[in-house]
Amino acid sequence: MSCEKSVYITTPIYYVNDIAHIGHAYTTIIADSISRYSRLIGHDTFFLTGTDEHGQKIEESAKAKGKSPKEYADAISATFKNLWDDFEISYDAFIRTTDEKHKIGAQKAFEVMAQKGDIYKDVYSGHYCISCETFFTKNQLLEEEFCPECGKTTTVVEEESYFFRLSKYQDKLLEWYEQNPSCILPKSKRNEVIRFVESGLEDLSITRTSFDWGVKIPESFNDPKHVMYVWLDALMNYLTALGYGSDEVNMRYWPARVHLIGKDILRFHAIYWPAFLMSLDQPLPKHIAAHGWWTRDGQKMSKSKGNVVNPKEVADAYGLENFRYFMLREVPFGGDGDFSQKALIDRINSDLGNDLGNLLNRLIGMSGKYFEGTIDSKDIVLYYKDELAQVEESIDKLEPLLFEMQIHRYLEELWRPLSIANKAIDKHQPWVLMKEGKTDEAMALVALIANILARVSVMLHPVMPETTRKIATALGFEIDNSSWTQLIIEKSMLASFTITQIPPLFPRIEEVKLEQAEETPKEEKKEASSKEEGIALIGIDDFFKTSIKIGTIIEAQEIEKSDRLLLLKVDIGEASPRQVVAGIKEFYSPQDLPGTQICLVANLKPAKLMGNKSEGMILAAKDKNGLSLIRPEAPKSNGTTVG
Ligand SMILES: [Zn+2]
Repeated sequence: MSCEKSVYITTPIYYVNDIAHIGHAYTTIIADSISRYSRLIGHDTFFLTGTDEHGQKIEESAKAKGKSPKEYADAISATFKNLWDDFEISYDAFIRTTDEKHKIGAQKAFEVMAQKGDIYKDVYSGHYCISCETFFTKNQLLEEEFCPECGKTTTVVEEESYFFRLSKYQDKLLEWYEQNPSCILPKSKRNEVIRFVESGLEDLSITRTSFDWGVKIPESFNDPKHVMYVWLDALMNYLTALGYGSDEVNMRYWPARVHLIGKDILRFHAIYWPAFLMSLDQPLPKHIAAHGWWTRDGQKMSKSKGNVVNPKEVADAYGLENFRYFMLREVPFGGDGDFSQKALIDRINSDLGNDLGNLLNRLIGMSGKYFEGTIDSKDIVLYYKDELAQVEESIDKLEPLLFEMQIHRYLEELWRPLSIANKAIDKHQPWVLMKEGKTDEAMALVALIANILARVSVMLHPVMPETTRKIATALGFEIDNSSWTQLIIEKSMLASFTITQIPPLFPRIEEVKLEQAEETPKEEKKEASSKEEGIALIGIDDFFKTSIKIGTIIEAQEIEKSDRLLLLKVDIGEASPRQVVAGIKEFYSPQDLPGTQICLVANLKPAKLMGNKSEGMILAAKDKNGLSLIRPEAPKSNGTTVG
């Protein structure tokens, strides 16, 4: 029944300025799950991931480390590839933008766009954020200087540049969004993109002359000082990985079924990329799907806080497939997700242990006790028509949910049959049926449970391949295209089969462990997490690098559009008060704060939060009862040193 259809699924190519974190793992695991499903149902599938290695930022990072850009890129690219191999990610190709094939394809694309009349040379003058590799107009800058995305100082750049006629594609893009309601997922993101494009597109500077580390524009331009803008280079990977401009060997996979991305790179994928493709006369991707951020225990993850989740460490501690399930089930796609060990342990003990693992144990127990493991019943429909109908209703909803990136809903719906099965056992009580001599009815019940588990295993397989293979072994069948066709499409039952005992799939993870993790006092917790992250403990000298001072809040006000932040003026005995942005709005009202003494970290580099400069950090402690500011036990003069 399988139909040969080409399906192309991509992750972004990850930028080699950082090592892999939970966000990278999340994108890659979604792409892997969808690819596995696509293969299971018989589609000819190509799954691409890789690394993005050019640009000024890489050139500078490499220099700082005393390495050549290529050596630097090689090292970081390998950490991504090794992690995906450890995670058994089923990618078909791992592209690097330093691959020769990629360079050839990117240059070819540049030529085609130029022949189309979409590229011209001019002088670029604007503000450039090296950190974001993005140009901004003066209007977009914060205080006419700072990057609106990351708050860092931008550089004024005036140089000769080639431009892409992005403005030419404004109407065509709007038409595409209009005619393809699910081209950008989730749909709320599509509306954001439409509003942005409607506000007007300017032509895009697509070459740079101020650095070297990139793909040169084609030799035919006779302009060797120009390298391609890193985003033009990077986006082309989706085509060059299929052989565009070189061997063309896998071009049948184009256009992509889905480009999975993080929401930070939506604009590049939803505006620039389709415009480039229109210029190249290539069909447009079916979906561009953007997911949200991950926080940890409600906090933004950052290297300076030392709370970045290392996906490998979590997978090693809790099981790779448990971690896969958790990430995909926990967060509505497109929304932001929070990682906490407590939530992970809850999912493992509850969803996986109680609902799935326990059902398998009950099945193994019943079939062994009553029927010596051999199940042979043709009476499921006769006795359990209602349960069967409910199960089928759920199963039928699954595939569209997966392909529309509603993966959390997919897993939620997939758990309904498990609940139906557990309830059926409680309701029909096989032990009573056996006592009453209704052996056929009891046998049919056990067969019903086995068939529900078989169907759930098949549909869960893309997310938990190894776990479901074990379940299938216990039930005596194999998960493949033919069992998928039989159980899911034809809705037929497994015939007579033998159930074998297997070791428990989800040994209970002790609650005690998690309580400790949650209740540990702040100082100890810091130590524990430092060990966890492999960061050395600090000495007293390091501590005294931090200047903490007593101050008095003299003014407090709300920040527009922020649910979390307050804008404070704090007197720490200096000539003028410090402006501080503090995430305490949920716990303190602005009118209650003036006159309150606090402890302020006074020697932090100034930062920008929601467009407001922040010149320090207020110390506070938060537990399950809320947040409290840390203040001196008795009043102290402003500017007194804490330590
Ligand atoms: Zn920036």
